[in-house]
Amino acid sequence: MTKTAAFAAWLAGIVLWYAIRYPFERRSKKAKVAVSLIDRREWVILGGLTIGLFVLPAVYIATGFPAGLDRPFSPALAWLGIAVLLLSLWLFRRSHADLGRNWSASLKMREQHQLVTGGVYRYVRHPMYTSFFLLALAQFLLIPNWLAGGAGLIAVLVLYLFRVQREERMMAEQFGDAYRAYSEKTARIIPWLL
Ligand code: SAH
Repeated sequence: MTKTAAFAAWLAGIVLWYAIRYPFERRSKKAKVAVSLIDRREWVILGGLTIGLFVLPAVYIATGFPAGLDRPFSPALAWLGIAVLLLSLWLFRRSHADLGRNWSASLKMREQHQLVTGGVYRYVRHPMYTSFFLLALAQFLLIPNWLAGGAGLIAVLVLYLFRVQREERMMAEQFGDAYRAYSEKTARIIPWLL
């Protein structure tokens, strides 16, 4: 495993990530939106994700910037990064498939929105955010630079801290006791733990 191979793996992961998302993005345009909580905070969260998970690592791979923050490259960590990347993509795909037409990139409720409690949603309430944490961890393991490797983890942490409570409040308002009962039986991002 070389550094170049690790970068290629990261890039392939991003391409696959988008290939998984694209059909859902297209299909979801057809399902009418009933409630939208998209505001400036949501744009900052989504912008931060794009910069942390994509722009900074891409700039680093293309230009080596910021070389002053390089860490030593470890082939063993990069192999682990590939394993985590595959797990992340699997979970990303499963959570899209389970959410189906209820999916949206930001905080929205569709008309005839249904509460999904099956598939990977049986174990955690936010499997897609778990898959983002795993993607960011893979980025950290594959890209040996404190900024370009670590920016994804910070961006996902911001998403998690600033969106999850709002999302759960929105779901509880919509689904009432059904969502509260579902919440009691599930963890947020790590089965049985957190
Ligand atoms: N937080 C979830 C979903 C992310 S997509 C995850 O990490 O897997 C965000 C949208 O999904 C929200 O706007 C909400 O409308 C919808 N959503 C979240 N949990 C849901 C559930 N259990 N059933 C149906 N829709 C859900």
